Amino acid sequence: MIIHIDLDGVIADFDKARNAHPLSKQSPYKGRPDKLPGIYKDLEPIPGSIEAVKKLLDDQRFEVFILSSAPWDNPDAWTHKRLWVEKYFGKAMRNKLILTKRKDLVIGDYLIDDLPWNGAKEFKGTWIHFGSDAFPDWEAILQKLENP
Ligand SMILES: [Mg+2]
Repeated sequence: MIIHIDLDGVIADFDKARNAHPLSKQSPYKGRPDKLPGIYKDLEPIPGSIEAVKKLLDDQRFEVFILSSAPWDNPDAWTHKRLWVEKYFGKAMRNKLILTKRKDLVIGDYLIDDLPWNGAKEFKGTWIHFGSDAFPDWEAILQKLENP
């Protein structure tokens, strides 16, 4: 079973970093936090996310990928996402990182994503809406995936 997992808002706490960034309320970054310099570099993990993803990685039933979008006009973000994944999941995870604006074109059984954008809503497998009433946290997601 192939599981894709979004990065920002699911594994990494983008909102916390945005709120703390000194330029977040200034033009041209207001409303475009994905353009903030260095915003993706040192994101804190969302509580429980690293442990949950590692559990899925260790489960022989699953093949796990990170499926994220990155801003075209903030190319540092691409590097920082790649380094972030290695920092928390090790070198073996580097080539499991997929960056695209068209998540709907990626094949898989599940996509865990907090937002419908960038093709998440149109994903051909099952979209698990992280943060929704049905899946408010990682505990609920593990419950579903580990007990089919
Ligand atoms: Mg997200």
